[in-house]
Amino acid sequence: MPSRVSFDYAKRWLRKRFPLRYPVRVRLVSSARLHVEHGHAVGFCTFDGTRCEILITKSASLDARIEHLHHEWAHIIRWHLPLESETKPDEHDPIFDLIHGRIRRAWHES
Ligand SMILES: [Zn+2]
Repeated sequence: MPSRVSFDYAKRWLRKRFPLRYPVRVRLVSSARLHVEHGHAVGFCTFDGTRCEILITKSASLDARIEHLHHEWAHIIRWHLPLESETKPDEHDPIFDLIHGRIRRAWHES
């Protein structure tokens, strides 16, 4: 992992290393808001057909925010692969795990 990182750096790094097919907006929101809208989540992502949005709890530590950003990013990449999931599309199938692992490894090696 780069020695001096910020959340913005992590976003830029992802956009460059793992570009998405659709525009993505990343927002830091209160944990209360994520809690109310999406249950006990630290991160959450949506896709409306043209744009993606990732919500991350702003009160989480920087490491946790970046970890969850990687996780949600992997979901979006997985959603856009034309390979049917054996589980529900928003769950963690083996292809999701591969993508997530690839992002994490690249991040820790960068
Ligand atoms: Zn997930």
